[in-house]
Amino acid sequence: MKIAFIGLGNMGGGMAANLAKAGHDVRAFDLSEEALARAVEAGCTRAASAAEAVTGAEAVVTMLPAGKHVASVYEADVFPNAAPGTLLLDCSTIDVATARSNIEAATANGLVAVDAPVSGGIAAANAGTLTFMVGGTGEGFARAEPILAKMGKAVIHAGDAGAGQAAKICNNMLLGASMVATCETLALAQKLGLDPQKFFDIASVSSGQCWSLTSYAPLPGVGPATPADNDYKGGFAAALMLKDLRLAMEAAASVDADVPMGLKARELYEAFVEADTDGRDFSAIIKTLQG
Ligand code: NAD
Repeated sequence: MKIAFIGLGNMGGGMAANLAKAGHDVRAFDLSEEALARAVEAGCTRAASAAEAVTGAEAVVTMLPAGKHVASVYEADVFPNAAPGTLLLDCSTIDVATARSNIEAATANGLVAVDAPVSGGIAAANAGTLTFMVGGTGEGFARAEPILAKMGKAVIHAGDAGAGQAAKICNNMLLGASMVATCETLALAQKLGLDPQKFFDIASVSSGQCWSLTSYAPLPGVGPATPADNDYKGGFAAALMLKDLRLAMEAAASVDADVPMGLKARELYEAFVEADTDGRDFSAIIKTLQG
């Protein structure tokens, strides 16, 4: 299948490479020459522009920074050049409102579009083990599923247009709040004189168990290997967590939802990201809670 892939950054690079590895004819484009060269090295075909990548493609995957980038690539390059019925898969994390309006505009242009954001970081993008949460029609999902399966370990139909983005930001709001709670709890346990590994062993099999503690413990030497063991390098950058928490707060305001824990997590990550010049993993927020 001829697939256009636009946005070959940290995530898109590995994803496009996996589509090429699976035998697809991947026409790749990125504004960055370096990113484009890496994709060509990984088996993709170089396109001179997004418009050229889209022309003649049966599917178009986008993996771009934010909603405004996706909307402008759709308007300027995809809608004028995509053949009727072309499938659009936007895997970027963007706001729910823009995801919905992009899909509406695509439908009005005779195309079939889904939002398909991912869970999993750069390592999962490279390994082809992402989780995709898909919003769109049954037809859109049926056509998107086999393509996404080449880049992930799970592909789930979340609901109608925008439902993928809604699921993604709800998941990450829960993750952000649970990471802050895990960090302050570990800091308290230490101050109360508990051995953090002992507390980890107890809470991981008690009612305090959660992914942020058991699978992603924010203290070095505690639990499985995590970014904490590598001076908080790699993993999921705190700035990306902040981006998702901001999107969650925007979405919550749009439906008048009360999200006090999500709001507190956003405030704490805002302060942390502003002060942290090293671009560390989001679990490094424990540093600000240890006093
Ligand atoms: P990135 O900044 O590394 O990559 C984005 C790429 O898009 C860049 O290479 C940039 O040059 C390109 N680009 C921007 N505008 C363009 C345009 N008009 N035409 C062509 N190319 C353009 O970002 P990333 O880390 O790959 O993240 C991409 C998306 O995935 C974001 O929405 C992010 O929130 C989401 N995401 C990231 C992670 C992660 O761990 N990095 C995890 C899950 C989801």
